[in-house]
Amino acid sequence: MTKNDPLKAYREKRDFRRTTEPAGGKGKPWAQPGFVIQKHAASTLHYDLRIEVGGRLKSWAVPKGPSTNPKDKRLAVATEDHPLDYADFEGVIPEGEYGAGTVLVWDSGSYRNLREKAGQEVPMEQAIDDGHIAIWLEGNKLKGGYALIHTGKAAEKRWLLVKMDDEKADAGANLVATRPESVLSGRTIEEIARQGGNRSGTG
Ligand code: MN
Repeated sequence: MTKNDPLKAYREKRDFRRTTEPAGGKGKPWAQPGFVIQKHAASTLHYDLRIEVGGRLKSWAVPKGPSTNPKDKRLAVATEDHPLDYADFEGVIPEGEYGAGTVLVWDSGSYRNLREKAGQEVPMEQAIDDGHIAIWLEGNKLKGGYALIHTGKAAEKRWLLVKMDDEKADAGANLVATRPESVLSGRTIEEIARQGGNRSGTG
């Protein structure tokens, strides 16, 4: 494991003898760039947005979850990179472990990078360094363009997640409220909390 291992922070926070979360390394490369949003009932409820970039999941915690209204600016706090196989983790992180609580796969799908400069695609890594990501989501629930904009000083972790004003924008919808179920299992967060176990097939 090198000093530059992008999953070092992820692994250091977790005891894989206790949590059923994946240790990473088993995820197969994806056929096309993908994203996942995991509803996470931890000490405080939030939604973890993860987008696949360079073989890992770049991650943000969004306290209020995504909006389909372009007027809403949702705080998105950058968190540690996660392994690809985290994308289908659903279950209960035990008491006393990092992120203890229930995880539900709220949405997943593919995405397209929308950033261009002089007719050329701006690579996702560059877009992250720029603090300006624009992607088109083809999720089960979320569709259309979303922007992630870094705010404040370079070292700060605060970004804003904003729906772009396109034909998929819908100021009246509230998918976080009307579509609470898992896209993986159809279960609610209460059902997962009750049933325990995870559905990722890794434990
Ligand atoms: Mn989380």
